[in-house]
Amino acid sequence: MQAITFKTDVLIIGGGFAGLWAARQASTHVKDVLIVDKGPRDWAGLGGMSGGDMITLHEDQDIHEWLDEVVFFNDGLCDQLMMLDTLRDSLPRFHDYEAMGHTFSRDSRGRYVRIPQRGLAHVSLTTSSPTGKGGINMRAALLRSLEGCSVRRMGNIMITAITRNGNRVSGAVGFFNRSGEPVFISAKAVLITTGTGGWKASYLQNSMASGCVELALEAGARLRNFEFIDNWNVPKLFAWEGQTVLLPLGGRFINNRNEEFMAERYSPVLGSKTDTQYNIRGMVLEVKAGRGPIVFDTSRIPAECMEEVTPAAGWMKLNNEKLKKLGVDFFKDKIEWMPQPIASEGGIATELDGSTEVEGLFAAGTAQSLPTGVYFGGLSICHCATSGHKTGDAIGRYAANCETPFFDKEQAQMLLQRELCRLGRTGIAPKDIVRVTQELMAPVDVCIMKSAGGLQRALQRLEEVKHEALPRMGAEDPHYLCKMVEARGMLMLTEAYLRASLERTESRAGHFRADYPQRDETSPLYWVEIRRNHGEMELVRVPLPLDSYPVKPYRYYMDQFTFPIEEVRKFLH
Ligand SMILES: Cc1cc2nc3c(=O)[nH]c(=O)nc-3n(C[C@H](O)[C@H](O)[C@H](O)COP(=O)(O)OP(=O)(O)OC[C@H]3O[C@@H](n4cnc5c(N)ncnc54)[C@H](O)[C@@H]3O)c2cc1C
Repeated sequence: MQAITFKTDVLIIGGGFAGLWAARQASTHVKDVLIVDKGPRDWAGLGGMSGGDMITLHEDQDIHEWLDEVVFFNDGLCDQLMMLDTLRDSLPRFHDYEAMGHTFSRDSRGRYVRIPQRGLAHVSLTTSSPTGKGGINMRAALLRSLEGCSVRRMGNIMITAITRNGNRVSGAVGFFNRSGEPVFISAKAVLITTGTGGWKASYLQNSMASGCVELALEAGARLRNFEFIDNWNVPKLFAWEGQTVLLPLGGRFINNRNEEFMAERYSPVLGSKTDTQYNIRGMVLEVKAGRGPIVFDTSRIPAECMEEVTPAAGWMKLNNEKLKKLGVDFFKDKIEWMPQPIASEGGIATELDGSTEVEGLFAAGTAQSLPTGVYFGGLSICHCATSGHKTGDAIGRYAANCETPFFDKEQAQMLLQRELCRLGRTGIAPKDIVRVTQELMAPVDVCIMKSAGGLQRALQRLEEVKHEALPRMGAEDPHYLCKMVEARGMLMLTEAYLRASLERTESRAGHFRADYPQRDETSPLYWVEIRRNHGEMELVRVPLPLDSYPVKPYRYYMDQFTFPIEEVRKFLH
């Protein structure tokens, strides 16, 4: 089939919030920006389903106090310069949203609502109004703001590889996932805003698959922070958005003895008002000790807050109404919750402006490495806006000042043939690889109380699947070809997670090793980075540039918890 060819100044892969912010800003510098997304043109990624809660440093708040607290929260492992940029730019982007017509919540005196996060003294988020419609409204505002900009947006295009001319990117290849027609895109610069990748979990995250891993590694970029995942707490039977708001207001996790076990046993200071990773570790220990199931108790949320936290619109309202029809009252019944690995928190290692060491290749949003497994609510919406805006500016300027590189059609054809040759072939279905990948991630000693034994076992199985099952995959039509690329990418994402988790032989921030439950104080703080070497993942420990950071780590959030070592060690067997 003849490839359909597009030419643009700036190609953006992924039309989520980060991609939309970047396009808006890049278009102020160049004549043409093209966003392509594997999903429908206007769906805008996960952001459209989000609560729209946004970390925002308001005028009267002190950036240095916030940074100090963020470094504490991350147990020292924080890209301080990127975090400073994110915090500093949060208010301008917040006001941009308002100028686009978006509404954030205010209290009865007209002040912006601020909800403190994870038991911290300073860092807080501001919610969107009305509850349940934040993401929907943000999406509409962003799309409206692109009207009149030199931005083209195209849906249903799955990008499978980035093309290069020497060390410079020249565009990308992919295919229409409805018709299977090949697509070649020649560009002066390419921005990856595909998100980081995940395991098609609940919580409306089933679109999350390989994200940036395969694209970035093959293009020659470095990955960072892949030992960190988003372990989320969810009701066992349905999705519920809003834990980051409910916990600070008094929501608690309790065991079958009606104990708030976090306060009782593991952190008298913070109780349940902490990061999901810590609550989940507590849940695991409780269940193992026979004190499960764990339920979420909202009885202590003050009555005057109930209106604010009851979904008033969007998918959450629909969910709530359906639950009521089934006789389930989220705020009164004892509803069982469970942990699950949702998404990776790794991303592409970039400079502050989003550029990578591959000339012309940039990354932003959740495809860019920032969090380290612990996560305060609202950071993602904030970072997508700040990094999207900043990187959009940088890539626009870059593309405005360079010529279009040679686009090698033979190279493009070869890269795409790898996928297209599977079309119409019977073989192992993508869903089978997805299921195996989820099974690899699920055991406690792989995703929560990690151990060398658990991680090695999963890695060994992964290698078998990689060598035996991947080559036998087939796709009956273009839709399943898209799913096949996702499934292969999920396997790579899982490999990155397992290898990086093995490499970090300590516990810190969102990474907990049952066989190394303490921080490693003997070596300098390091990132685990992954690059491609002869087709394999090569892992490197890269020291943090602490000399250039304003805060020298001196206190650690993890020290507020005591998970009994003898109980933890039981996970080694
Ligand atoms: C239910 C829910 C509630 C949330 N609530 C909040 C909240 O209140 N506050 C907050 O801060 N965060 C929240 N989040 C998280 C936040 O919404 C996301 O992390 C953020 O929107 C991610 O944006 P992104 O642009 O980086 O990536 P995404 O939204 O994942 O966008 C990536 C896009 O790239 C496309 N893509 C991927 N791979 C390819 C490919 N190979 N080719 C072409 N296209 C590709 C995808 O289809 C997608 O559209 C929530 C998330 C969910 C699911």
